[in-house]
Amino acid sequence: MPTDPVLVVHGGAWAMPDDMVEAHLRGVNNALAAGWRVLERGGSSLDAVEEAVVIMEDDETFDAGRGSFLNRDGKVQLDALIMDGATLRAGGVGCVERLCNPVRAARKILSESPHVYFVGEGAEKFAAEHGVPLCSNEDLIIPREVERLRAYQAAQAELKRSGSKPDGNDLFAGDSDDTTISHDTVGAVALDRDGNIAAATSTGGTLNKAPGRLGDSSLIGCGCYADNLSAAASTTGWGEPIMKLVLAKWTADRISAGNLPEWSAQEAMNYLKQRVNGHGGIIVLNPEGHIGIAHNTPRMAWAYRTVKKQESGVVREN
Ligand code: ASP
Repeated sequence: MPTDPVLVVHGGAWAMPDDMVEAHLRGVNNALAAGWRVLERGGSSLDAVEEAVVIMEDDETFDAGRGSFLNRDGKVQLDALIMDGATLRAGGVGCVERLCNPVRAARKILSESPHVYFVGEGAEKFAAEHGVPLCSNEDLIIPREVERLRAYQAAQAELKRSGSKPDGNDLFAGDSDDTTISHDTVGAVALDRDGNIAAATSTGGTLNKAPGRLGDSSLIGCGCYADNLSAAASTTGWGEPIMKLVLAKWTADRISAGNLPEWSAQEAMNYLKQRVNGHGGIIVLNPEGHIGIAHNTPRMAWAYRTVKKQESGVVREN
């Protein structure tokens, strides 16, 4: 008997201001619709998460694809991962500068390469050779982000001049508690009619990051994970703490040990806060179709759909 499909997406966890709620909700719902079209016609969970993430990479609201945060040098550097729970095959790209849709390249790596992960120019070359179009870095940069970086760097310089300690990389250090810094990474987890689960995550990383810095999002088990024997998960938030806990895999392991995704997602957020003072959000889904959505930030954009129900929001009460 075919399984009832399920799709969950997120668009970042942080103290999102009121005037940005509508754009985030529209974005996650558009992504949900695209992924659901795939599942509804019997397509795979892998195709569904890819299509959902592409929609959010193309939406400038999010820190993924065009409109992403700029690094310290004023460039966009993107990371993405996609993983198939049926086979454990995965494809990841890191620090790519010329791909509008890094998840498309990640998918090609999963399907057409014996390798799992490509970075920088090698990733771009692989993508181009496999029919994923390249763009220029300027195509990914929008005026909002140029201004955001300028204001941030000016504030840092001012702090330095006045003798206060600038945020600098401390922004991501173990003691940072600032949820007002936007975290608009995107992700999706899906269950298809064949009972297979998959996950994908895509990001521009963090504002003013050092060139070459890679976050959690595209690392297997950190920002993304999928295994039919446990769960599919996608995380967002402050990447360094999430990486240290290998949080997506940690959560999947809790689920394979018999805990419900709903509880495991919440537990992951408590663990993140308590163990490394991290903040963020997570979506999880097991092959039985149970979902978990949790965040320890004031808000996280999320949406899910099952055959019976569809919901979205920016706060998830568990
Ligand atoms: N986790 C991402 C990173 O650290 C950022 C985010 O989720 O917004 O690169």
